[in-house]
Amino acid sequence: MSIPRQHLNLIDGQSRPAASGEVIEVIDPSDGQVFTSIPRGADGDIDAAVNAAHDAFRRVWRNQTATDRGRILSRLAASILAHQDELSELECRDTGKPMAQARVDIAACARYFEFYGGAADKLHGETIPYTAGSTVMAIRVPHGVTGHIIPWNYPAQIFGRSVGASLAAGNCCVVKPAEDACLTPLRVAALALECGLPPGVLNVVCGLGREAGAALAAHPGIAHISFTGSTETGATVAEAAARRHVPVTLELGGKSPQIVFADADLGQAVPVIVNAIIQSAGQTCTAGSRVLIERSIYAEVLAQIGARFDALRIGPGLSDLDCGPLVNRRQQHKVMGMIESAQADGIRIAGQGKLVAGAPVDGCYVLPTLFADVPAGHAIAQKEIFGPVLSAFAFEGEDEAAELANGTDFGLTAGVWTRDGGRQLRMAHAIEAGQVFINNYGAGGGIELPFGGMKHSGYGREKAFEGLRGFTTIKTIAIKHG
Ligand code: NDP
Repeated sequence: MSIPRQHLNLIDGQSRPAASGEVIEVIDPSDGQVFTSIPRGADGDIDAAVNAAHDAFRRVWRNQTATDRGRILSRLAASILAHQDELSELECRDTGKPMAQARVDIAACARYFEFYGGAADKLHGETIPYTAGSTVMAIRVPHGVTGHIIPWNYPAQIFGRSVGASLAAGNCCVVKPAEDACLTPLRVAALALECGLPPGVLNVVCGLGREAGAALAAHPGIAHISFTGSTETGATVAEAAARRHVPVTLELGGKSPQIVFADADLGQAVPVIVNAIIQSAGQTCTAGSRVLIERSIYAEVLAQIGARFDALRIGPGLSDLDCGPLVNRRQQHKVMGMIESAQADGIRIAGQGKLVAGAPVDGCYVLPTLFADVPAGHAIAQKEIFGPVLSAFAFEGEDEAAELANGTDFGLTAGVWTRDGGRQLRMAHAIEAGQVFINNYGAGGGIELPFGGMKHSGYGREKAFEGLRGFTTIKTIAIKHG
C-alpha cells in the first residue's frame, strides 16, 4: 500500500495544513525511517476547529434526531470494516504493532461506532415524582463541543471509544491525536464525512501535546475533555479544565496484577497472562504487568511463563510476529533503562524473547522480559513501565494476594485465576480496581463493559452505556400545572 507523503488536519470538513505551514516527520518505529508527515497544529488551528465544531453543533448536529445520528455512525462502522486492510497497515506502520493486532484494533474501532450508533436513540432521561400538580423531567443533553486527547498506543480504538460515544450523545468533537499516531484518526474522520457526517461535526488537529494539546485543554469553547495518557499530563489537562470548570474523564494507565492461586487452570491462565503483557509490546493501559503466584506453585508457573517468554519472536510490525517495536526511541530508552536498572539491582531474569534475524537495526525494539522474585517496593513493581516487562511475585493466601495487588498507586484492572467460587468473589471485592476479570483477562477489550480507574488510574468511565452517559449532562425541567 502506498501511504501519502503528507497528511493534513481535518477542520470543518476540509483537509488543511497547519496555519504555520510547519510539519512533523512521522517515523516508522519498525525501521526508524521517516515515511510521511503530519501538520504541526497549534492554538490557531485548534481555535479554527473549535469554532467549526460550535457552528456545526448549532446549525446541524443538535437538530438531528438521535436515530439519524446513530445511522451515520453505523454506516461509519461498516465503512471502517470495508477499509480494514488499509487502516490496519496505517496503524501498523504508525505504531509498530504487529498486523494481526492492528487488525483487531481496527475491528474494535468499527465496533465502537456500531455499539454507539445502535445506542444513540436508546439513551433516555427520567421523570421524577415531585409535588402534587407538577411533572418533573430529567433529560440528558449533550455538553456541546468536546475535546479528545488521544494517546499513541491504541489510536484507532481510543478514537472510536471516545468520539463514537460523544457523537452519539449529540456533541461535536475536536480531536488531538498523539504526534506519534495520527494516521488512523485522520483517515477514519475522512471516512465519516463520506458516510454523511456533516462538515465540522468531527475535527482532527495534529500537533505536539504541549502546543496543540495544551491549546485544546485550555480552550474556552470546549465543554468536556476526554483524556487518555500519563498521570502527569492527565493532571496538567485536569488543571487547565478546572480553571474553566469543565468536566474531564481521565484514563491514566495502571500496574495491573494477574493473581494465580494454586487451584487455577494453568493451561487456561498462562497463555492469557503472557499475551496480556505482550499485546502492543506492553504499551497497554491494562497490561497485566505483575503476576502474583501462590507460593506452592510459584516455581512451576514461573517456569511455564518463562518458557513462553523465551519462545517469543520480536521484529517489524509488518512481519506480524509475537511482538513489534515500541512506538518511538524515547519509549524504547525509557523501558530499556528500567530493565537495566532492575538487572543492576540483581533482579533475576526468568525468561526473555529474541529479536528475529534481519530486524532493522534502527527499529525501536525491546526484548520482552520476565523478572522473578521482584521486591514489592522496587520501581519495576510500582511504576507503569509501558513495555513488555512482567514482574513475578510469590504470595501466601488471599490476604497477602490482595495486599500485594493493591500495593501500588494504580487501580485500573486485575485478573484472578482460581476455581474456588467464594474466593473469586472475595478477591473481586477486595481488589481496588475499576475492572476485575475472573478466569479471563480483557487487556484493551470489552466495548460493552464500563471501563476506568480508581486511585491514580483516573476517574470517569468510558465504554458501554456508562461512557455514553458521561458525554451528556442532566437538565431538570420542573413544570407546575396544577
Ligand atoms: P502523555 O500523557 O504525555 O501523552 C498522551 C496525550 O497527551 C498525547 O496525545 C499527547 O500529545 C498529549 N499531551 C502531551 N502533553 C500535553 C499537554 N501539556 N496538554 C495536553 N495534551 C498533552 O504520554 P507520553 O506519550 O509522554 O507517554 C509517557 C507515558 O505515559 C508512557 O510511558 C505511559 O506510561 C503513559 N501512557 C499511558 C497511556 C494509557 O493508555 N493510559 C497512553 C500513553 C502513555 P503528544 O503525544 O503529541 O505529545
